[in-house]
Amino acid sequence: MYCPKCLNQTLFIKPKGVVDIYINGKKRDNGRFLYNMDPAYEEEVLSDFTNKCEEFFKWYGDFKNKETIEYIELLTVDIKCENNCRFSPMERFSAVDTIITSEVILDVLTTFGKKYNLEVELKV
Ligand SMILES: [Zn+2]
Repeated sequence: MYCPKCLNQTLFIKPKGVVDIYINGKKRDNGRFLYNMDPAYEEEVLSDFTNKCEEFFKWYGDFKNKETIEYIELLTVDIKCENNCRFSPMERFSAVDTIITSEVILDVLTTFGKKYNLEVELKV
């Protein structure tokens, strides 16, 4: 991945960490999941992600003014640059397609959109 500090392709995601989920810019207090890049944890990570999305949809489904779900962001601070660049805790990086693929995201959101009667029209 591209490092915004040293401008090299030297950024990589740490083997384990935490990902925050923002949907339409909203994040629930517990709207995060742990990941582990070890393939042995793939299913566990996927099911944690799925559960967190479902919690969000359940919660958001009760809102009076529901907006179409258009944006989802998976953000992490668990990133490292091979050149040891330093990042502030405010600098977060997308975990889409490294930890969870876009296909899975679309699939999960579409499923819960139907289940909880929320419109999903993702804009990338
Ligand atoms: Zn760097």
